[in-house]
Amino acid sequence: MSISYSKIILKSGKDQSLKRFHPWVFSGAIKKTEGPLAEGNIVSVHANNGEFLGLGHYQIGSIAVRVFSFQEVAIDELFWKDKLRKAYQLRLDLGLTNHPDTNVYRLVHAEGDGLPGLVIDFYNGTAVFQMHSIGMYLIRNELSKYLKDIMGDQLKAVYDKSEKTLPFKADIEPRDGFLYGDTVAGLVSEYGNLFKVDWEEGQKTGFFIDQRENRYLLQQYSKDRDVLNMFCYTGGFSFFAMRGGAKSVHSVDASGKAIDLTRENVELNYPNDPRHEAIVADAFEYLRDIKDKYDLIVLDPPAFAKHREALSRALQGYKRINARAFEQIRPGGILFTFSCSQVVSKEKFREAVFSAAAISGRTVRILHQLNQPADHPINIYHPEGEYLKGLVLYVE
Ligand code: SAH
Repeated sequence: MSISYSKIILKSGKDQSLKRFHPWVFSGAIKKTEGPLAEGNIVSVHANNGEFLGLGHYQIGSIAVRVFSFQEVAIDELFWKDKLRKAYQLRLDLGLTNHPDTNVYRLVHAEGDGLPGLVIDFYNGTAVFQMHSIGMYLIRNELSKYLKDIMGDQLKAVYDKSEKTLPFKADIEPRDGFLYGDTVAGLVSEYGNLFKVDWEEGQKTGFFIDQRENRYLLQQYSKDRDVLNMFCYTGGFSFFAMRGGAKSVHSVDASGKAIDLTRENVELNYPNDPRHEAIVADAFEYLRDIKDKYDLIVLDPPAFAKHREALSRALQGYKRINARAFEQIRPGGILFTFSCSQVVSKEKFREAVFSAAAISGRTVRILHQLNQPADHPINIYHPEGEYLKGLVLYVE
């Protein structure tokens, strides 16, 4: 088959990771290019000896190519539809597309679904696209149409929310907006708990779907406990705790908007429930003085490190907040602690939490080691995809 894409030729020895199906080509690995190149173009990647390695989207930046096919095939409607269909099939197999009391899930998880640069979250009929590559952004209307063909009546609207996630905005000036339909912000259900999701205004695609199973687990530990949900955002952990029979729940976030959202969501599920209090405060301040106030603490901070350079500062941050929790949690307390920074490995996160425990001198046991749920699958050849890490700890 003759494919007329521009070529990227790698330096000798730089083909190994692609041969192991790792989907990224770093700019430093490129020896030369052949043919015209514009951001978002499909390119074919070759070893120094000319051997074909893969097809992907080209972009200016440290990751120069995101490979979506390791076979020399036509990249057409059938190709993209097949990818989307496989992603959908997995969620169907997971029981998420027709779950009795959950109608929010991740439909496409970038590299985890062989679609680097593309994230799609499904909110009770509305698919929210979040593109991380220009190549995916350029075909957003096609992808929206293909998804509609696959999902039929299940899909009422597609909203594109890529403005903040695309690099080099200047050239293409992305604008968030509907690609199909126009449903306004709506209610979704996660294990029967209701959330108001605002994909137009909210963080990420509006909601952190990746904590679903962990919120559900927390519910089982909440009975008769005084709970602190630090970094609460939409308040998810809070009303799972309330459903689990918590004695009191304090939701804390530095953002007033997040606290409003939490209050609204708690009202939806537990109207006028005196057990809940929402507080605007900085975590580092608030955690200074919580001695023996809580016996269940959730720490789910934003990604402290977005880049490798910020790693050591981020690890200090994790150590500090966890040390505060270990020092002050009541005896017999339970700590749910998380990191969602991709550049912080499971091991590094553990080390930070272990040092924090050691500072407090308390006896600590690991009850669970948590991660992202199955609708955020990890491509086995792309370990970087394992970004959410959590520990559930019992503190004597
Ligand atoms: N636990 C949430 C997701 C947390 S997102 C869930 O289950 O959906 C991280 C949150 O931390 C954001 O809402 C952000 O406003 C908040 N945040 C960031 N920095 C903070 C700080 N220094 N103190 C308190 N909250 C902070």
